[in-house]
Amino acid sequence: MAKLISFDIDGTLEVGDPPGGITMEMVRRLQGLGYLIGSCSDRTVSEQQRIWRDHGIEVEFTVLKHRLEAVKEQFPAEEHYHVGDTETDRRAALQAGFSFLSVGDAVAGLLNGLTPQ
Ligand SMILES: [Mg+2]
Repeated sequence: MAKLISFDIDGTLEVGDPPGGITMEMVRRLQGLGYLIGSCSDRTVSEQQRIWRDHGIEVEFTVLKHRLEAVKEQFPAEEHYHVGDTETDRRAALQAGFSFLSVGDAVAGLLNGLTPQ
């Protein structure tokens, strides 16, 4: 069964405002490894879709931050991760039954060629 990673945008992705440590190339690599990818952000869904489309990445989901639980219902997976930069991300992740990864932990895992723990 696949693993799923949800990304916050601002402060998390390199294209966020402020930019975060997760590059779009990292996202592509994870997708290439078979991860189900999407975003969960305070940005509107249409903005999230535009960001991914602008970078040629086809994602499985784009949801508002309080809708993470719906992603879990829609996509059964071996693991559900949410990568974010704030306490709000951590809380949203835990409430939805996701494992929370800070941006730093996620980057460290990727740089080591490891999948997130
Ligand atoms: Mg953020």
